[in-house]
Amino acid sequence: MKGLLIVLSGPSGVGKGTVREILMKDESLNLAYSISMTTRKPRVGEVDGRDYFFVSQEEFDKALKNKELLEHACFVNNCYGTPKNYVEKLRNEGKNVLLEIETHGAFSVMEKEKDDPLFLSIFLLPPSFEELEKRIRGRRTEEESIVQERLAKAKVELKLQDNYQHKVVDITPEQAANEIADIINKKINL
Ligand code: 5GP
Repeated sequence: MKGLLIVLSGPSGVGKGTVREILMKDESLNLAYSISMTTRKPRVGEVDGRDYFFVSQEEFDKALKNKELLEHACFVNNCYGTPKNYVEKLRNEGKNVLLEIETHGAFSVMEKEKDDPLFLSIFLLPPSFEELEKRIRGRRTEEESIVQERLAKAKVELKLQDNYQHKVVDITPEQAANEIADIINKKINL
């Protein structure tokens, strides 16, 4: 049977990556992570082909022009996109494919897939805006102007939470991952 398409979204810095890593370890969920394409430079420890496909702006524009992306978003000077064929291939193999993406891209997927019974959308919330700011600053990889841009984007993103099928508050990554695993299991067993 074809696998689920699961969108995990939420504001930048909320902790989607950590929650995703916990979920991916749960073999019973039969998940495959959709590796995005990005023009952002790799952070320390990030590996091409595992965390992202790191590409040039020219390569990204070409993929976009050739309609190879299921969705994409450009912000804070970088572009991110989901390779369409890769997602379809995994779903056809029966994998439940997890997209960890920001809200602009999530919206375009939701628009396209909203009537598909195999589609699931989940919004990850911080316990408070102050806590989100702390998490973004705690990362210490970005200069102040970028932090400010991410915070401004997060404010807009938080307003969109009611458009998702499910909302989960990320108090700790383990608790959030547990709640999401329950949501996915319910959908699998429908
Ligand atoms: P970061 O630069 O911290 O890895 O990611 C920044 C934001 O881009 C995060 O909110 C992440 O979820 C989002 N993102 C990563 N890949 C994609 C993608 O393919 N499409 C969209 N729309 N957002 C993505």
